[in-house]
Amino acid sequence: MISANSISVARGAKPVIKDFSAEFKAGTITAIIGPNGCGKSTLLAAIAGDLPLTSGVISLKEKDLASYQFAELAKLRSVVLQQPIFNLAFTVQEVLAMARAAGSTLESESAAITKLGISELVDRKVTQLSGGERQRVAIALALAVDAPVLLLDEPLAAQDVESTNRIIELLTTEAKAGKTVILVAHLPAADLNWCDQIIQNF
Ligand code: ADP
Ligand code: MG
Repeated sequence: MISANSISVARGAKPVIKDFSAEFKAGTITAIIGPNGCGKSTLLAAIAGDLPLTSGVISLKEKDLASYQFAELAKLRSVVLQQPIFNLAFTVQEVLAMARAAGSTLESESAAITKLGISELVDRKVTQLSGGERQRVAIALALAVDAPVLLLDEPLAAQDVESTNRIIELLTTEAKAGKTVILVAHLPAADLNWCDQIIQNF
């Protein structure tokens, strides 16, 4: 589904990712792990097509990621940021409906609300949610779009045990349904046996 071929990525003048290659197959879950500042978010953003490469190529469905139009990309990959940014006081339900342009429907939004266990949050303003709640809304938004690629930056970092288990279960279900799931995790490799591939020391 996705392959990174000898990619390098810089943040400003600073090279962060150097000559990195990996394959991300459909139906699998990959975890990116490593110490703070090692470039996990940078790597995920590059795979999302949100950061330019200084060299190398990322292909998505055998086509150069850089050649996709934004609207096309929005239907192919959903991104959950480390700290989802919700600046305007819309309700959770209203925010979910904003993904319609990328392909969500009322049905897929309801299904995502159930999967994330956030039905009690739908009428709350997103600006008044806790970090973990915001992130569950952002994951629901990503699922509602039903894109074949799911990219999540530390989706488990602000979650309690129940939500962590729920998210692991739903990511596993999405992968079994054929999606390519890539997440940044702050867990030791020994706690990631539900993942198919672990990327570290890059
Ligand atoms: P991680 O997600 O592994 O904690 P990041 O990918 O966020 O790491 O950051 C990798 C490196 O790039 C760090 O040294 C960080 O300080 C730097 N960096 C991240 N974002 C920016 C930015 N927008 N501008 C400049 N440097 C950045
Ligand atoms: Mg990060």
